[in-house]
Amino acid sequence: MIALYPGSFDPITYGHLDIIFRAAKLCEKVIVVIMENNEKEGAFTYKERKKMIEQCIVDLENVEVQIGTGLTIDYAVKVNADVLIRGVRAVTDYEYEMQLATTNMALNDNIETLFLMAKPEYSFLSSSTAKTIAQNGGDLTYFVPDNVAKKLYEKYR
Ligand code: ADP
Repeated sequence: MIALYPGSFDPITYGHLDIIFRAAKLCEKVIVVIMENNEKEGAFTYKERKKMIEQCIVDLENVEVQIGTGLTIDYAVKVNADVLIRGVRAVTDYEYEMQLATTNMALNDNIETLFLMAKPEYSFLSSSTAKTIAQNGGDLTYFVPDNVAKKLYEKYR
């Protein structure tokens, strides 16, 4: 089974990484795709985000990182993905994720969305929280890997 894990990853956190590790155990291959989004200007360029993710997954042989454009579901077809992976943290994620998954189902019902529940210790974690902490010089130890923390501090120095 080939899985596509789409997101903004601006930047990647331990929560995203946990989903990647778990998906990599379930699937033959996991493609992490940073989807370009013209409406949402990120803190990091797509290339910077890709590099940070790649540094975090060097030990995973069946995971690769790409930058994608267009509709996620079309991208999934392009890379021969069987499923989309999404992470769910709290009830607040539920409505948004349900809307996305049902839209994708309407567009193409050959590709299922698989949801993985966030680990409790990461269920409060988001890229925006990590950015806010970095902006205020807080401790990022529990939020993002060291290479990502370094980039965040550099960005907001
Ligand atoms: P998007 O802009 O598409 O929501 P994100 O990069 O914020 O992109 O998230 C990508 C996916 O990872 C989403 O399904 C999101 O719910 C999930 N995710 C984000 N943070 C966590 C976390 N801490 N634990 C588990 N899943 C997460």
